[in-house]
Amino acid sequence: MIEQAVAELTPIVGTRPACRALGASPATIYRRRRPPEPKPRRPRDAPARALSEPERQAVLAELHSERFVDCSPAQVWATLLDEGRYLASERTMYRLLAARHGGVRERRDQRTHPAYRKPELLASRPNELCWYPAPHEPIVPRELFDRAQTILKERGEDQSQRRSNASEYLLTSRVRCGRCGQAYIGTAAHGRNGRYTYYTCFTRHRYGTEHCSNDRLPAEKLEQAVTRQLWKVLNDKTLLTAALDHAYAQLAHRDGEHEDELSSVQRKLADARAAMDRYFQAFEHGTMPEDTCAPRIAALGEQTKALEARASELATLADSEPVQRISEADLDAIRQRVRAALDDGGPMRVKAILQELTDEIRIDGRDAIEPTFPCARGSTTVRIDGANRSQCEPLRAAPRRADVA
Ligand SMILES: [Zn+2]
Repeated sequence: MIEQAVAELTPIVGTRPACRALGASPATIYRRRRPPEPKPRRPRDAPARALSEPERQAVLAELHSERFVDCSPAQVWATLLDEGRYLASERTMYRLLAARHGGVRERRDQRTHPAYRKPELLASRPNELCWYPAPHEPIVPRELFDRAQTILKERGEDQSQRRSNASEYLLTSRVRCGRCGQAYIGTAAHGRNGRYTYYTCFTRHRYGTEHCSNDRLPAEKLEQAVTRQLWKVLNDKTLLTAALDHAYAQLAHRDGEHEDELSSVQRKLADARAAMDRYFQAFEHGTMPEDTCAPRIAALGEQTKALEARASELATLADSEPVQRISEADLDAIRQRVRAALDDGGPMRVKAILQELTDEIRIDGRDAIEPTFPCARGSTTVRIDGANRSQCEPLRAAPRRADVA
């Protein structure tokens, strides 16, 4: 910092006056400007006890001699010591060998353990990776078993044929068959031009059209129709106002219920306290023995405690702020956010919105699709209108279900 200030002042007043003005040492400033050349290191003296060159050669000669050629330095060192000769320590022998031959290492092949891997579950469904030898002869001939498997697979019994991508079917668990009451599930078929996704009645998919003949609907078109209808409902002022009126009426009703309960709890509390007082008085006047009053008083005490807790709970609820009615501007903001998410949110985001804002989509046929939205709860249910209905027609050439190997 000071050095920088000195550097700035120097061209104006010179180095020394600048140093004087700023209280810096001129020697330090000059040294920093022209740092001294680094001095070459002095070579280290050999330690007094180090082996001389001829001694080193003697050790190496011994290590390389015919009789020790297959021995380790430890064996050489011990053998020589047995003979009364000490040339160098074992470590020095290693050092000399390393200096002469590079890294000294174990020359035999050593077993290396494979890297440990955490065990993981590779099965994607029950009993997939385990099998047990049956203790008896096959009950069913092989061909019959295979045929049954094929039929099961065609009927969709096979879990692997079910949808695999969680985000693929946006209306999962919301669509219900109006004819048999089962859920509509996401299914896929492989046709000539690729893969087609549908919503299909579970009964129809599993047991065939003779059990439920309700229409199979193209997934994307149904999703688009429901999204369009949802958007329409969100923009329907009359519908939303009715739904909001209903919701706020329910809230007010709940508050009223809390008040009623509070006064009832307070009455019970007063009764319990009065009863306790009567027992105390009877005991004090000696008209009732202690072992008769004690259990009753204990029970009344418990009851009082529970009632007090409930009363304070209800009082807190009553004290809380009354709910403010949502403003028109807030509603618009919510609408805009939903629109933005529906337009450019990823499939998971759109799915979350559809799941949150849809109660149920009842399907009576491809021309009778009836979604219920919670934002229109308490008013009439909305039907997908004629314009949207045609969107839910199946693709003209319904692809046949191809077997997946
Ligand atoms: Zn059905």
